[in-house]
Amino acid sequence: MALRVQKYGGTSVGSLERIRHVARRIAGARRAGHDVVVVVSAMSGETDRLLSLGRELSSHAPEREMDVLVASGEQVSAALLCIALSDLGVEAVSLLGHQARIETDSVHTKARIARVDDQRLREALVAGRVVVVAGFQGTDAQGNITTLGRGGSDTSAVAIAAAVGAEVCEIYTDVEGVFTADPGVCPTARKVSHISYEEMLELSALGAKVLQPRSVELAMKYGVKVHVRSSFSEAEGTMVTGEEEALESVVVAGVTCDRDAAKVTLRSVPDQPGVCAAIFEPLAEENISVDMIIQNVAVDGTTDLTFTVSRGDLERTREVAARIAGELDSDLLGFDEDVVKVSIVGLGMRSHAGVAAKMFRLLATEGINIEAISTSEIKTSCLIRAKYAELAVRVLHDGFGLGGP
Ligand code: ADP
Ligand code: ASP
Ligand code: MG
Repeated sequence: MALRVQKYGGTSVGSLERIRHVARRIAGARRAGHDVVVVVSAMSGETDRLLSLGRELSSHAPEREMDVLVASGEQVSAALLCIALSDLGVEAVSLLGHQARIETDSVHTKARIARVDDQRLREALVAGRVVVVAGFQGTDAQGNITTLGRGGSDTSAVAIAAAVGAEVCEIYTDVEGVFTADPGVCPTARKVSHISYEEMLELSALGAKVLQPRSVELAMKYGVKVHVRSSFSEAEGTMVTGEEEALESVVVAGVTCDRDAAKVTLRSVPDQPGVCAAIFEPLAEENISVDMIIQNVAVDGTTDLTFTVSRGDLERTREVAARIAGELDSDLLGFDEDVVKVSIVGLGMRSHAGVAAKMFRLLATEGINIEAISTSEIKTSCLIRAKYAELAVRVLHDGFGLGGP
């Protein structure tokens, strides 16, 4: 008898019919003798609906209250799933974040899990119940409700799997696994049977929304086996595991696109020591993560500086950047949201030369201009005009031979 964590995403619990279907699946796992902890997302579209209600009332809605508001979506699906399970004669109990003792820091709307006290989960399992935990939510040390950022139920599931020592953490979603590119964008994308934590972490961080990046980080840290699969079929999905077990050792494992980037340009910045620190320290103090950074060669003692931030941080970046520009006597500020970041990811890039050059050539062949580049050991990213996003993904995917033999 094994202990499994099963996470069902928004589409998988998107209607009463689908909730019934999920309940039957869980009942099957119980009949096979498994203990099951289930983590649920809100019904599809619900988190967006709740967010827009709050934002309609105020453009400065307190983040604490936004968390109380959006966390309710997962409360509804947890209760509905327990009702469906009880209707099938399966004993189940729902637990909200605080009841499952998911302790987080106090950074509302993007809190990080600090600890999961598994005592209550275990008690329910020992009593022979299926435990259905509301994903995406926790509480801070003061008992305030927090949420874990979009896609955060994946992280709830992996954190719980680590805490209870589950044999596997199954992430049930609306596609059959992890693909070589978003199957909704790239018709030739293929499901991969295995992928390493490192590659998955990069793919997630660079826009593949199938797993929240933090969930992969936790899985890697605690060695949780993650199985991404479809709730609509019995097919095997993708195992996210350690490098040695990730069989498909290829140069490029996947192509992805991040639509969340915004470009900020400061012109006529003094070219002297301490200027970069003066620009990026205030951003860091505001908890704004900066991604790509480009500084030009100086002309006349001044230079241009371009960097990217996430679109959600753009308003706050505007305020900070305006202040900095004033202090540095910098010329002009440019803000550009009409950009996306396309990336190729693969462990094989460590040992193969010319991969980035090939990426640039493939984009050039389609007349796509590259506005910024960033690289690490296992990825190369290019900032391009947003209108080319899908074309770029398809061209890179097929250009690197990911479409098939
Ligand atoms: P859930 O609601 O189950 O959490 P998400 O919408 O968060 O589902 O994530 C699944 C979606 O991720 C898929 O429908 C797919 O469009 C998208 N996606 C993006 N990149 C990939 C990829 N490389 N492999 C699989 N799915 C991807
Ligand atoms: N419901 C939340 C969201 O839509 C969390 C999740 O689905 O993982 O982002
Ligand atoms: Mg998701």
